[in-house]
Amino acid sequence: MRVIALAVVLASLVTGSAMAQPKWAIVVHGGAGVIERADLTPQQEAAYRAAMTKVTKAGGEVLEKGGSALDAIEAAIHLLEDDPLFNSARGAVFTAEGRNELDASIMDGATLKAGAVAGVTRTRHPISLARAVMETSPHVMLMGSGADTFSKETGLEQAEPSYFFTERRWRSLEKFLAEQKLPVPPRPTGPVVADEAAALAHDEGKYGTVGVVALDQAGHVAAGTSTGGTTGKRWGRVGDSPIIGAGNYASDASCAVSATGTGEYFIRLTVAREICALVEHKGLSLQAAADEVVQNKLTALGGDGGVIAVAPDGQMAWSYNTSGMYRARLAAGEPLTVGIYKDEP
Ligand code: ASP
Repeated sequence: MRVIALAVVLASLVTGSAMAQPKWAIVVHGGAGVIERADLTPQQEAAYRAAMTKVTKAGGEVLEKGGSALDAIEAAIHLLEDDPLFNSARGAVFTAEGRNELDASIMDGATLKAGAVAGVTRTRHPISLARAVMETSPHVMLMGSGADTFSKETGLEQAEPSYFFTERRWRSLEKFLAEQKLPVPPRPTGPVVADEAAALAHDEGKYGTVGVVALDQAGHVAAGTSTGGTTGKRWGRVGDSPIIGAGNYASDASCAVSATGTGEYFIRLTVAREICALVEHKGLSLQAAADEVVQNKLTALGGDGGVIAVAPDGQMAWSYNTSGMYRARLAAGEPLTVGIYKDEP
């Protein structure tokens, strides 16, 4: 017993400085899925790593200057939504009807206020629309054409549907529809933004959702998620990303989580809230809670994907049961970590 106690004291002395609470922290994901080394050329890999680095540093800068977790999340997700490498806003996957229907959500851990949109088609930055729902409407979730109207009335930057078009996502749709023996809809018309970067992207099928969680210097956590959903979705399908508690959740009482993966399973397990509940009610560490839900519960149910998380005491975590997840983390005074494959930290 005495030996163990001594070892614990020594371990805490040795790790004492590393364990000190960082004054801010940010974790970013760019989707999880079957991402193996053989799937990516060196240029593709470099493009994803550069994007994850740029986005995480941009969010970190907001936090370093004393900005709120919500501001850091919005700034970082804007970059991801503009980047055709990712399945959010520009670069989003197509529905079976050949449309980009975008979902996003945001939650403020300090107040438990939340905002979400589903199936929106005309807002350049859906994460800002989710934030506007949270901050300027009496509601939590808006959908479809009503949400598009709210976006315009709120004065958010609008985009033609063709702005979201990328050639590789169109090819993914054609492939998916052929496999499903469904008709290919007419190709969207309109001014399409040139898309060299997307030529670098490998075809990872339906994944590529983006999410950011952050802890600010005031000690508040928040979470944001933005996606085009899944390739070839039909019938107004909505995944977990805009569902508060499933794909996104934040509470200063526990943690902030953003998820990516097969949304139906994340909804059924209320993955994001479940992780925070394990932290809050069972006292699990953030990593243990994320692993319990992703590696055990999600896997047992047959779902694929992953999560990122941050806690008010500065703990950061990610967990995924796929072969890869685009991910990065940064905290005050700590080096940036960027990873794609399973064998990386
Ligand atoms: N979770 C998203 C959805 O089901 C997709 C993803 O994260 O790849 O809509």
